[in-house]
Amino acid sequence: MALRLHNTLTRHTDPFTPLDPPRVSLYTCGPTVYNYAHIGNFRTFLFEDLLRRWLEASGYDVFHVMNLTDVDDKTINGAVKAGRPLAEYTRQYVEAFFADRDYLRILPAHAYPRATEFIGPMIALVERLLANGVAYRGDDGSVYFAIARFPAYGKLSRLDTRELKTGASERVSADEYAKEDARDFALWKTARPEDETVGAAWDAPFGRGRPGWHLECSAMALDLVAKRFGRDVLDIHAGAVDLIFPHHEDEIAQSCAYTGEPEFARFWLHGEFLTMAGTKMSKRFGNILTARDLHEEGKDAGAVRLLVFNTHYRQKLDWSDDALAAAESGSRRLGEFRDRLAERPAGVPAKPDESAWTALAERSWARFAAALDDDLNAPQALAAMFDFAREGNALLDSGVNPSADARAAWERMEGVLAVTPAPALSGRLLAEQSLEPAGEPAAASLPGEPPADPAAAIAWATAWARVRREAKAARNYPEADRIRDLLRRHGWEIRDNRDGTVEVKRAGSA
Ligand SMILES: [Zn+2]
Repeated sequence: MALRLHNTLTRHTDPFTPLDPPRVSLYTCGPTVYNYAHIGNFRTFLFEDLLRRWLEASGYDVFHVMNLTDVDDKTINGAVKAGRPLAEYTRQYVEAFFADRDYLRILPAHAYPRATEFIGPMIALVERLLANGVAYRGDDGSVYFAIARFPAYGKLSRLDTRELKTGASERVSADEYAKEDARDFALWKTARPEDETVGAAWDAPFGRGRPGWHLECSAMALDLVAKRFGRDVLDIHAGAVDLIFPHHEDEIAQSCAYTGEPEFARFWLHGEFLTMAGTKMSKRFGNILTARDLHEEGKDAGAVRLLVFNTHYRQKLDWSDDALAAAESGSRRLGEFRDRLAERPAGVPAKPDESAWTALAERSWARFAAALDDDLNAPQALAAMFDFAREGNALLDSGVNPSADARAAWERMEGVLAVTPAPALSGRLLAEQSLEPAGEPAAASLPGEPPADPAAAIAWATAWARVRREAKAARNYPEADRIRDLLRRHGWEIRDNRDGTVEVKRAGSA
């Protein structure tokens, strides 16, 4: 069965084929970097991560762009309140977003365009819309899109266009507004004194100002994707359901009026909300849970991913402590099976009973793939993994060694969902981390933060331990203590052995 995806544009689950197979252009609306992204935002990014991973596992060559909205109403308000320049204010949240992304094992996009770095293409887009007569300058100095001059307006969100409020007297300048307020929207907002104060104003032929939020995505997507693919149409555009209107509707209007193409993206995918005890997570309700809260509580990303993937992306997901506890135990169960599978030596030469493993692997993979091909049905794919683990454990209990294809099938599933706990750093592994005398440690170039990858984190901690031993040898005890504290903050303990070796180990491991 081939991949089918639910397309908001058609309201159907349609067979997916890209314009230039095997290449796929994927644009996903990224975070507005005015705050720490909450777990509701990350539910969307996890659904998009699954989409990306499954496309790649299906043999597609994906080019994934995720924008960073670093200039809009929210970021400017935040910078004004903090009394800091916009660029400085947003930088901390960009860095936090990347750290949270790595914690949740979300594959990095191939490009993270920042809106403030694409002002040129945005100005060019507005100029052409003005020249085409679909945009006009309001008496407030801002430039607006005239929805009445774009007959397809409302196609994605299925607005009743007879009800549209049109004309210059009915325009809206806020970035976010409701469906009832469908009217001419701002492409470019004339500079206000507070914009100038925080550095959020740029010169343009149609007046000094700054871009509207919707304009940003159109300009960045067209600039990056069109240049690379030689087309003005994206294969897939994705985001959360609340972006259908007005954000994506406005993106379509601007982009298609600019390119003359009938579509901006062929597939529009939208992920449902995450609720907390039945309520949408938002600042207003004071029920915000961030990815960094979970990270600080020591929650394993595998369990978070399992909880999220246990609900289909087009269904509402209600987050609760009980659901997370259940996901943690499920993730552990899968992790234990992974470890058992890896420990057993491969049965060489092939024994007749290996066929049981091969049959199990083939059956499980077929179920797994059919589920994800059916509009990314992750709950069904997870069920296939749990059954694989249950039946596999029974085979292991009866002393049948796993076949190579069984291990390979399990690893492919893991590679798509990434729902098992981070591998435990066992005592045996750590003994091998004893330090041999080595060349000059490059303390200055060692980062203060460990890499996300567990194996790279061991190398990082070991490198610091080596620097510390040099510091001790030079009787630089304050530096040695500083390094011990640095490692401890990141969960590593250093042990100086009597034989002169030094071990680093995860705090709490054997
Ligand atoms: Zn967008």
